[in-house]
Amino acid sequence: MADSTELQARQSIHVAGEWRHAVSGATRAILDPADAAPFALVAEGDEKDTDLAVEAARAAFDGGAGAWPRTPVAERAALLRRVADLLVRDREELGLLESRDAGKTAEEGRVDIDCVADAFRYFADLVAAEAPGRVVDAGSPDIHSVVVHEPVGVCALITPWNYPLLQASWKIAPALAAGNTFVVKPSEITPMTTIALIGLLAEAGLPAGVANIVTGPGHTVGARLAEHPDVDLVSFTGGLASGTKVARAAAPTVKKVALELGGKNPNVVFADACATEEGFDTAVDQALNAAFIHSGQVCSAGARLIVEESVRDRFVTELARRAERIRLGRGTAEGVECGPLVSEQHRAKVEEYVASALAEGAVLRCGGKRPQPSDVRPATGWFYEPTVLDHCHREMRVVREEVFGPVVTVETFRTEDEAVALANDTEYGLAGAVWTADAGRARRVAGRLRHGTVWINDFHPYLPQAEWGGFGKSGTGRELGPAGLAEYRETKHVYQNLAPKPVRWFTG
Ligand code: NAD
Repeated sequence: MADSTELQARQSIHVAGEWRHAVSGATRAILDPADAAPFALVAEGDEKDTDLAVEAARAAFDGGAGAWPRTPVAERAALLRRVADLLVRDREELGLLESRDAGKTAEEGRVDIDCVADAFRYFADLVAAEAPGRVVDAGSPDIHSVVVHEPVGVCALITPWNYPLLQASWKIAPALAAGNTFVVKPSEITPMTTIALIGLLAEAGLPAGVANIVTGPGHTVGARLAEHPDVDLVSFTGGLASGTKVARAAAPTVKKVALELGGKNPNVVFADACATEEGFDTAVDQALNAAFIHSGQVCSAGARLIVEESVRDRFVTELARRAERIRLGRGTAEGVECGPLVSEQHRAKVEEYVASALAEGAVLRCGGKRPQPSDVRPATGWFYEPTVLDHCHREMRVVREEVFGPVVTVETFRTEDEAVALANDTEYGLAGAVWTADAGRARRVAGRLRHGTVWINDFHPYLPQAEWGGFGKSGTGRELGPAGLAEYRETKHVYQNLAPKPVRWFTG
């Protein structure tokens, strides 16, 4: 195992166009989840670094006529497209870096980079095609009235560890497209690709001070960003507990707040979806993907399988049979289908949830333990077997709380009403799916699900053109789509009187 003292500390803080170490000189080792070995040493910023970054972003926003907020839209869009091209150029390298940092497979890493490039292209196209404002008929030829959109100002962008660069791009691309400046704070455990992206933005020609990054922990860097009086907007993706802290810290300065939080997503399977062999195979295969891709460390993971009682035994038996065969290992190893969990603490949390479920009466159908080490699974890696927990019920913690690991719970229903009630019985509301061969039922159930995304006979796809976000405690605000751009804008009404006259409201 490498020793972090052998690694050279990287200048991972970028402020006003300069790469820096932390003011304090502190560093943090970045660990590979597949073997717990450090592979990079980055700056551990704190409040002082954060204040410098906000100051730089503020100066870049408030700058003169040529500053980024006043750069013509066509130029902003062209820059975003150049960034997409650079991402494509560096796809292999960035995909591998994402795989190593977050523990996902190399192929997942590459797909993430494709999606990041898509986000940059989408927001470039969206702003480039827009009308510059909306003329409003004020009822008089002497009045010219127009509604325009302007950038919000300095944006604080705080991101999680599971899809580090993808989540960052859903914020950075619209923030830049709308003309804002920003400070991004990636997760302290997976900052590597976001650091790389800041380099690509500079290479693409973004002026100094527009894009700043401070690497460091949430309770210092993140908390300071949320409360900072010179930050105009905070967009946060992460867990419910941290999200509520961000909202509280942001309240006294009345900044705009967008929260993209967790999920406890239902995957509802009606028996009619399994009536043919092909239908059954597809529904099981997608339930496997829904629950276990990236070891279930996905905000929209289909962690609650809600299956019609008549097909439960057959469905769960096949699901468990296939889950046992998922090939776990280092994400970059040949033939590996699923990587480790992101950290030792996180695996301990997942283990605790499984133990609590078994104590509350769940039946273990597969998994529930760490796998044996192998040539692709170092003993020091944070691996955990895909786990199917049968006979679960809504009072169990494992059904109510976000586990964020390779664990799927099974509940059953007999009627459509029962299925909908179970699916909606969560404080979250991020995403959910319904599997049925009955098109009418599909639309009825989709209409009743209280979730921000509903898939019918599918699971996990998203489109950059369609908004992403949650109902309930899954958050406020939306990413992607036109609403994902609107988050980064202020709306201004400009009312121009071309023939001003006295109003004589007061007679004196
Ligand atoms: P987390 O809440 O622990 O951390 C997220 C980010 O917030 C990190 O950068 C962290 O350093 C920072 N942070 C922590 N405390 C903070 C504070 N007090 N003030 C400001 N910033 C703070 O979440 P995580 O463990 O990194 O990510 C997993 C969570 O993210 C899951 O709940 C998952 O569902 C959610 N998530 C949601 C979406 C979505 O689109 N809704 C997408 C991905 C992940």
